[in-house]
Amino acid sequence: MMLKLSNSLTGKCEPFFPLHEKTVRMYVCGITPYDDTHVGHGRCYVLFDLIYRVLQHAGNTVLYCRNFTDIDDKLLSKAQFLYEDSQRYKEIAQEYIHNFHEDIGALNCIAPTFEPCVTDNIEPIIRFIERLIDNNAAYVSSGDVYFSISNAPGYGQLSKQKIADLRSGVRVEPNEKKRDPLDFALWKSETDDTFWRSPWGWGRPGWHIECSALAYHYLGEQIDIHGGGMDLLFPHHENELAQTEAVTHKPFSTFWVHNAFVQVNKEKMSKSLGNFFMLRDVYKEFDPMVLRFYYLNHHYKSPLEFSFDLLCDIEKSYWRLCRFFNAYTASQSEAPSAIEQQMIDFLLNDMNSVGAFGLLFAHLNELSPVEICSIKWILQNLMGLTLVVQAEQKITAQMQLLIDQRLQARQAGDWKRADQLRVELKALGFEVQDKKV
Ligand SMILES: [Zn+2]
Repeated sequence: MMLKLSNSLTGKCEPFFPLHEKTVRMYVCGITPYDDTHVGHGRCYVLFDLIYRVLQHAGNTVLYCRNFTDIDDKLLSKAQFLYEDSQRYKEIAQEYIHNFHEDIGALNCIAPTFEPCVTDNIEPIIRFIERLIDNNAAYVSSGDVYFSISNAPGYGQLSKQKIADLRSGVRVEPNEKKRDPLDFALWKSETDDTFWRSPWGWGRPGWHIECSALAYHYLGEQIDIHGGGMDLLFPHHENELAQTEAVTHKPFSTFWVHNAFVQVNKEKMSKSLGNFFMLRDVYKEFDPMVLRFYYLNHHYKSPLEFSFDLLCDIEKSYWRLCRFFNAYTASQSEAPSAIEQQMIDFLLNDMNSVGAFGLLFAHLNELSPVEICSIKWILQNLMGLTLVVQAEQKITAQMQLLIDQRLQARQAGDWKRADQLRVELKALGFEVQDKKV
């Protein structure tokens, strides 16, 4: 079976062929490191990790680029708030980039080929903006540079919106430096010399331009897959597409792949609603592999309902899987059996990990030892589940009492109490792994 992916640009699930045979160029928008990584980010990066693994398994070399937006209004205002010095944004960015690597690494996501920071790539960004100005797609206005929507007739093609409709919905600000309210900033002027010197004066890049410039710089004029969460479709990806195509006059990306939202009580998880979960808080209660397994048990195009109770339900299946495979050594089979091939075909068919697990659980007790070894290889190498069963720890009577209380608290959904008991257990030298169910 050939690989198929859901393409937001066409609205269809389509067969995937790379532009250059056996080399896939994939760009996924990264985080702004001003805070810890949350469950929504985890969903996105696990999806693209799965795509990365499946593409490599299909014999491709994958050039995977994921950026860090390490200069941004949110970083500057956090530095101003914490240190009364906005220039200390760099320290904040470094801290959260470090945490990001820990948190996403715990989900067993393979590091991308390139992980550029914006602040290390100001020159390519300035050059990209110059090309846009040369092509009449951007203009300078009092030290700022704006992208000109009126010179981008295809604008709206990705998010399926008409320019006239968008224009009617935009509020016009007084003293606007833009020619059109839909135009967006490529370069923001700054009064002091603390940022970067450009042909238009001191300043810093806007958000959207970085991804166009970095994709161009690291991957080339055209890429095969551009990815991110659904919330990036508009305006971020629409703007990226307009910028790049105004420079290259070629389709930017063949596939635009977006994962659906993470929801809490059927509402989108967001900071403003306070229904927000950081990955490192989830890891206090659950093994990161339980979360990865949870993500993979939901198709990426469907909204994902998230709660600790739901994780508690699924962790039993995960540890059952781990115990089942524990006595076997993973080995890649040269001639896949029918069930192995069906599992791989599920993945090739728009990353249907849900279908692959369904098939596996339905046939778990019919597998031959050889099949078990090769399916373990698929689970570990294609789906990225470590399947590690933690070693037994010595348990005293006092520990056992707290463990029992903690289990009761978890079953009652009292996560605060469970966390307190985890801390008490740690003080006794017992690391809670939640391996035993
Ligand atoms: Zn981006």
